[in-house]
Amino acid sequence: MSSNYYEVLGVSPDATQDQIKKAYRRLARELHPDVATGDGAEERFKDVSRAYEVLSNPEKRQMYDRGVDPTAPGGGQAGFGAGFGFQDIFETFFGAAQGASAQRGPVPRARRGQDALVRLDIDLAEAAFGVHREVPVDTAVLCGTCQGTCCRPGTSPRTCEVCGGRGVVQRVARSFLGQVMTSSPCAACHGFGTVIPEPCPECSGEGRVRSRRTLSVDVPAGVDTGTRIKLTGQGEVGPAGGPPGDVYLEVRERQHDTFVRRGDDLHCTLEIPMTAAALGTVVQLETLDGVRDIDVRPGTQPGDVLVERGLGIGHLHVGGRGDLNVHVDVQIPTTLDEEQEALLRRLAELRGEERPASRMAPAHPGVFAKLRDKLAGR
Ligand SMILES: [Zn+2]
Ligand SMILES: [Zn+2]
Repeated sequence: MSSNYYEVLGVSPDATQDQIKKAYRRLARELHPDVATGDGAEERFKDVSRAYEVLSNPEKRQMYDRGVDPTAPGGGQAGFGAGFGFQDIFETFFGAAQGASAQRGPVPRARRGQDALVRLDIDLAEAAFGVHREVPVDTAVLCGTCQGTCCRPGTSPRTCEVCGGRGVVQRVARSFLGQVMTSSPCAACHGFGTVIPEPCPECSGEGRVRSRRTLSVDVPAGVDTGTRIKLTGQGEVGPAGGPPGDVYLEVRERQHDTFVRRGDDLHCTLEIPMTAAALGTVVQLETLDGVRDIDVRPGTQPGDVLVERGLGIGHLHVGGRGDLNVHVDVQIPTTLDEEQEALLRRLAELRGEERPASRMAPAHPGVFAKLRDKLAGR
């Protein structure tokens, strides 16, 4: 589909409404599915109709000139099922033809399909390194029997007899203001201007059928709960084989048994006995990268954080990785046998700590920050 609506209609960007209307009429006569048989004529007809829908409406044209395509659905507007665009709702309540738009032509049968939102559960290691996944999706796809024309093979749409193919009917209503000319979408053809005399048996005239497919997806390192991965054009095919919407994969990360993620850094708590904290030791820690030796220096304090650089989560799209922060928790023995108690008493004696004087540490925000982190399970 061409993106420049002016080029599609073959008019210059400063064309008048009259010139746009004339260009559309000429192309519609040439490309209408009832007369055109050439390859791609139907696709071009859809493009032309869409271009006219935008350029014939001064508001939409202004939007388009500012770089916004008013026929494209809002970004991130993902949903399931039979949704309605703003256009549909507007037309349902106010009629397709109000004021200036009274001259607009039939609405295209084909419309863009809905976006689909699919949840993707991953574990922490997959978020850290990225992962390849096969994701099953259940969406509408183009009907292979009618290729989106909605017609039984060998038949074609017929011009609506009620509105003569214009898609709208006009009537004169009397009101206390006098006679008012109103026009509304033709009920016989739902504003399409054509009717399908023999619907395709495969899709019941929908132009699309439901199908379960598997999408191959490379999930990059660094995704997090809430990250959306957009798969352009993999969503629902629209009514009458309209262009497909997008699939959004929404990531949800499973909680890990020992690691907590904060941004791209990981935090865990390492419990070591009091003696090891005092004497120093090397602990083997199961990280996402396998078993690593963690050096615990002599005199390590409760709440100390040992930072292992680059063992965290990969940064999304930019490379590099966060850190693994090992929070030390020092375990004090709760029971001592006779020999152990004797040894500890001897140690206290040697260190002159049998009756330690009360010594208050200076108030230091760092202490409470550590405590708060500890309470929060970081
Ligand atoms: Zn079909
Ligand atoms: Zn009609």
